[in-house]
Amino acid sequence: MDGLAGGSGSGLGWLPGREGPAVVGDSAEIPVGWGDVAGTAPAQADRLSDNTNSAPHRLTRPDYATGTSSSPRGKSAGVGAACRFRVSAPSTPQDRLAYRPSGPLHVQDGCPWATDRWTCVSDCPHRPRRLTGPRRIRYRAPPSPSSSPCPGAPTVARQGFVSSITRQSEDFPAWYNDVVLKAELASYSPVRGCMIIRPYGYSVWESMRDELDRHIKRTGHQNVYFPLFVPRSLLEKEAEHVEGFDPQVAWVTHAGGKELDEWLAIRPTSEALIAEVVKDWIQSYRDLPLLMNLWNNVVRWELRTRLFLRTAEFLWQEAHTFHATEAEAAAEVATGLEAYRAVSEDWLAIPVVRGVKSRAETFPGAVYSQAIEAMMRDRKALQAGTSHMLGQNFARSAGIEFLDRDNQRKAPYGTSWGFSTRMVGATIMAHGDDSGLVLPPNVAPQQLVIVPIFRSEDDRAAVDAAIDGLEPLLRDVTTASGPLRYTVDWREESPGFKYNHWELRGVPLRLEIGPRDVAAGQAVLVRRLDRAKESLPMSALGEQLPLRLAAYQAELFRRALDFRADNTHHVDTYDEFKRVLEEKGGFLMAPWCGDAGCEKQINTDTGATTRVVPFDSPDEAGYCLVDGRPSERRVLFARAY
Ligand SMILES: [Zn+2]
Repeated sequence: MDGLAGGSGSGLGWLPGREGPAVVGDSAEIPVGWGDVAGTAPAQADRLSDNTNSAPHRLTRPDYATGTSSSPRGKSAGVGAACRFRVSAPSTPQDRLAYRPSGPLHVQDGCPWATDRWTCVSDCPHRPRRLTGPRRIRYRAPPSPSSSPCPGAPTVARQGFVSSITRQSEDFPAWYNDVVLKAELASYSPVRGCMIIRPYGYSVWESMRDELDRHIKRTGHQNVYFPLFVPRSLLEKEAEHVEGFDPQVAWVTHAGGKELDEWLAIRPTSEALIAEVVKDWIQSYRDLPLLMNLWNNVVRWELRTRLFLRTAEFLWQEAHTFHATEAEAAAEVATGLEAYRAVSEDWLAIPVVRGVKSRAETFPGAVYSQAIEAMMRDRKALQAGTSHMLGQNFARSAGIEFLDRDNQRKAPYGTSWGFSTRMVGATIMAHGDDSGLVLPPNVAPQQLVIVPIFRSEDDRAAVDAAIDGLEPLLRDVTTASGPLRYTVDWREESPGFKYNHWELRGVPLRLEIGPRDVAAGQAVLVRRLDRAKESLPMSALGEQLPLRLAAYQAELFRRALDFRADNTHHVDTYDEFKRVLEEKGGFLMAPWCGDAGCEKQINTDTGATTRVVPFDSPDEAGYCLVDGRPSERRVLFARAY
C-alpha cells in the first residue's frame, strides 16, 4: 500500500485486497465524519470498478436507497467549473483512482463524482490523464482525530452510505416517512388514510404479534373471532362509548343493492358486540372468568394519518375479559399491561413508563385506563399499549348477569386491552438513526446478512465454498427469537450497495467474507448500531453469533433507557415547564392537581398532554402548575404521537 492509502486500516477494511484483518474495535478511533468516509467509500469504489470495462468517464452513481442509478452529482456543471479539491495527478504509479475526503459536508461543484463527502479526484473533469487498464483504488488516510470538529463527539458514524433519506436530526417526520417507504415497510394505498404493509414491515409486525400471542396464551386467554360489523343499536347502547367513537365510525348503509334497515358500523373496537353475544355464555360464576382475545383489523376514520402511527384501518389485538369480582378484573388489567411491558421492553427493546391515564385520556366508557408510554428519538411520547377496567358498565348496558356463589344475580366486571401495528412505528422511531432502521435482533426479519467480497472468479469460488462450509453451522444457531435468520447476498451489486441496502433495513449484523478472510479462516463481523468491526474465526461463529445478538439487543435497550433518562426533566412551575418543553422537549414530570380544566389549559398552551400518572411516581406534595392547588405526586407530561 502506498502513501495515499496509508493510515488506518478502517478505511480499507472492506477492500477485497486488504492487508490483513480489520482491526478489532477500530471504529472507536474514527472521529465523526471520518466514520462516514469509511462507510461511504466501498459503494463508490466498487461501482467504479464494476464499470471499468464500459465507459470509465461516464459512470453513473447508484441511488443507494432505491437501487436505481442516477446521474452523477454536478455532472451538468461541466469541465471548467471551479474544483476546490483538485489535486495534481497522483504521484503514485499508473492508472490509479485517488479519493480523498472532501472535508466537512462540502459538495463539490463541477466534479461528477462529488458526493457530500467524497471527491473522486481522478474522475474530476480537471484531471488531465486518461485512465486505462485495470484500476486499483486507494484511500487517503483519515484526518487526524484532533481535526474532528468536536473532540467529545460520539464516534458513531453520523451518516452512512444511505444518502437519500432525510436526516433524522433535520426533519424527524420526513425521516420517518423516508424510512417507512424506502425500507419497504409500508406504502400508501389507493384508499386515503389506509396503508399497505409490505412483506418486510409485515414480518416485523408478525414477530411482535407472535411474541404477544405467546404471552396472551400463557396467561390463560383464548383467541376467538367476532364479525367486522356492529349493528348501530348495539354500538349506541353504551352512551359514553359511542360518544367517544362517533366521529370516527365508518358506516355501511347499503348492501345487496339496497339501503339497509339498520346501519352497520365497521368495528372501531369490539366491546359492544362482545358484550351482547357473551350474555348467553355467562350464566354462572362457574363460567367466569371468560378470557378472550381477538386478532383483527379495526377502522377509525382519521383525518390526519401517518403510516403505522395513525391510519384509518389498522391491525391489532383486543382482549376482552369478564370476571366475577372487581379485584379479579383489576388483576387482569395488570396482566394485560404486563404483557405489553414485556413485549415492548424484552422484545422490542423499548423502555416504557407504566401508569394510569387521566380522566380525559381514559378509554370511552371505561372506569380507568392504564397505559405504557415510550419515548421516541425525537423525544416525543408514544402510547405503546393500553389496558382498560370497564367495571360493570358494558355488562350492565348489555344485560349480562350471572348467578354468583351467594345465589345473587350480578353483573360481571369487564376489561379490555389493545396493542396495534402502531408499535411497528414505535420500533422505527425508538431506535432508528440517520441511516435508517435499527432493529432489535429479536424482531429483525434478518438478523445477519453475509456479504461475499470478491473480484475474480477464483476469489468468488473460494468465498462461495467458504460460505457453503459455514451454512450448516449457521443453520444450527439458535437465538433468543428462534433459529438464526440470515441471508447471503449474492446479488450482482457492489458490496457498498449491499451494505447500504441492509443498513437501511436495520439488519443488526453483517458478515463480510473476502478471499483473504477465507485464507485466514475468519470473517469480519460489523454491527449496524455503531459499525464496529471485529474479526472472528469462522469456526467460532456458531458460538459467538447468539452472544453478539443478545448483547446487541441489550445494548439497544440500554441506549433507549439512557436516552429517556437524559430527556426526562422535573419541573415545578408553569414557566419552567414551557421553557423546558420548548428548549429540550422530552418527558416532563410536573405537579398537577388532577383538574381537567388545568390539563386542558396546559394542552392548549403547549401542545403537551398528560401521558400517565406513573406507578412509580412517589408521593410528593406540590402545587399544580396552572392554578397552584395541591398536587399529591408528579404526572408525566409530553408532546405525543
Ligand atoms: Zn390545577
